[in-house]
Amino acid sequence: MATYQAPLRDMQFVLHELLGAEREFAALPGFEDATRDLIDPILEEAAKLCENVMFPLNRVGDQEGCTFEDGEVRTPTGFRDAYRAYVEGGWGGLTCNPDFGGQGLPHTLSVFVEEMLQSSNMALALYTGLTHGACIALDKHGSDDLRRRYLAKLVDGTWSGVMCLTESHCGTDLGLLRTRAESIGDGRYRVTGTKIFITGGDQDLSENIVHFVLARLPDAPPGVKGISMFLVPKFLANEDGSPGERNAVHCGSIEHKMGIRGASTCVMNYDGATGYLVGEPHRGMRAMFSMMNYERLMVGQQGLSLAEVAYQNAAAYARDRLQGRSLKGPSAPDLPADPIIVHPDVRRMLLTTRAYNEAARALLGWVSLQVDRSTHHPDPTVREAAADSVALFTPVVKAFFTDYGFESCNLCQQVFGGHGYISEWGMEQLVRDARISQIYEGANGIHALDLAGRKLPMNGGRAIHAYMEGVSDFVAERRGKSELAEFVQPLGAALARLQQATQWLNEAAQVNPDEVGAASYDYLRLLALVSFGRMWAESAEIALANQDGDNTGFYKAKLATARFFVRRLLPNTASLLATLTAGADSVMAMEAEAF
Ligand SMILES: Cc1cc2nc3c(=O)[nH]c(=O)nc-3n(C[C@H](O)[C@H](O)[C@H](O)COP(=O)(O)OP(=O)(O)OC[C@H]3O[C@@H](n4cnc5c(N)ncnc54)[C@H](O)[C@@H]3O)c2cc1C
Repeated sequence: MATYQAPLRDMQFVLHELLGAEREFAALPGFEDATRDLIDPILEEAAKLCENVMFPLNRVGDQEGCTFEDGEVRTPTGFRDAYRAYVEGGWGGLTCNPDFGGQGLPHTLSVFVEEMLQSSNMALALYTGLTHGACIALDKHGSDDLRRRYLAKLVDGTWSGVMCLTESHCGTDLGLLRTRAESIGDGRYRVTGTKIFITGGDQDLSENIVHFVLARLPDAPPGVKGISMFLVPKFLANEDGSPGERNAVHCGSIEHKMGIRGASTCVMNYDGATGYLVGEPHRGMRAMFSMMNYERLMVGQQGLSLAEVAYQNAAAYARDRLQGRSLKGPSAPDLPADPIIVHPDVRRMLLTTRAYNEAARALLGWVSLQVDRSTHHPDPTVREAAADSVALFTPVVKAFFTDYGFESCNLCQQVFGGHGYISEWGMEQLVRDARISQIYEGANGIHALDLAGRKLPMNGGRAIHAYMEGVSDFVAERRGKSELAEFVQPLGAALARLQQATQWLNEAAQVNPDEVGAASYDYLRLLALVSFGRMWAESAEIALANQDGDNTGFYKAKLATARFFVRRLLPNTASLLATLTAGADSVMAMEAEAF
């Protein structure tokens, strides 16, 4: 049976030692009250909810799954109680607008709560995470009337929010979507069409479900420029905000799937359902992006969250399981065999996972701080630079975290040998659950294209150049510090590869657009490794300064993991540079019929 303990110590390291969160929040008007005295108890309470309430239901959710009967979806046993505990704890409103019952706290705090929620029960946390994205979109783009009637209930979680983009013939290419909306004159619309794969489209957790649906108006231009966003509730809200008349929104069926079985995946039919326009006509993608940008970071985090649980269980198993002897001779001569943690290959699997996890937690903390700066910093140039960083790193978090997360769940399953394949240990569920995060919220290849094709050239390359300059300054400032050389020199070499790749991509794109498509995946991984290298170098610097008097071993373990990262993982930047600059010819040469 798998276990989970929230990694509070490492979260505190990232927040307080690496990011200096209290000092940062003090400089962001509206967040001054987010002091350590407030932050740490919130994280501790979240850990209790996740360890004691959410995690015990993770396996139940997988075994029972959701069921569909008489047109209604039922979630697994215990999910309703856990959802109620989440709502009653006020967790949904942590960062939301105080005018609608939210607590207005920084995203840099809630991101750690989100990590625990996703680790402890990804299926259940999908319902709440989607609702959070819906709150952001409605608050930003909704009319005063819609916000008044719907937002407070979404913020407190009494009602939930879902995003409805995908149709059977249209996933990545939303320009193809056919769901239509027609005005009925009084600010309301009739929405007609069928969406598939809608997470939480129907469920029995919340009193009402508010669908954010992409559809076309009759005069819409073709393609993505003709898409509008509509709020389509399961129950129409009365003037006083209570749930009223049942709307023509119905679940047709639910999917049977590989993982996240406790999260309903619904076919949703809108049969002339009443809807309300959110944002401007034909500019629905803009409104939906407010929701999607949040969800993309959250889905990326699912990779980290599951890899954290996988690591914790695999490390405990490796210390316990006796097989074979150390290559150097018995390490536990009194026992019939040594614990498998003595074997270098087992350590490779554990350290790979741990090195990615801790860097990912640090990077996502940093990206979240940029989210807070981009919305709350008084200086517009700081806000702009922070928004650039968020835009640049959103595809990295989404795609790299979920790729390494899946790989790491596999590695940790491997640590268990055959037992990892048996349901009882919980490892195969992690592998199955992790897989979807590489696919939904845009398949990872699309995020690589978004990075290489859109985010790099954005504003003449301003975001990537500013980022590379920042890393370059970081390296230069530490050049004379011999104790840091083992971390900073490899980072400098990896940065040089990133600079070379960026220039190559820029030039190659002018000659042949397929070069961007062919290089994009490797480029994303290269940027991810450099950014992880930066996080490790900074973490190692703090650990070196604190290693004397380190009575828990925390800083020693940080240093050991940092060394593993720079010596065994960061050098992959060299092969990524080689493959991406090999060009598109070998990728595109074969005729389609020959595949
Ligand atoms: C369990 C689950 C839950 C989901 N939840 C939701 C939800 O809540 N709301 C919602 O709206 N949708 C949801 N989805 C849909 C999901 O977001 C889509 O499945 C995903 O975006 C991919 O779309 P698709 O399946 O149509 O694949 P396709 O678009 O057909 O893509 C197939 C493959 O081709 C690649 N590809 C496509 N176009 C290009 C291109 N231009 N360049 C390079 N490669 C390309 C893709 O990367 C992918 O590998 C969910 C899906 C699942 C399975």
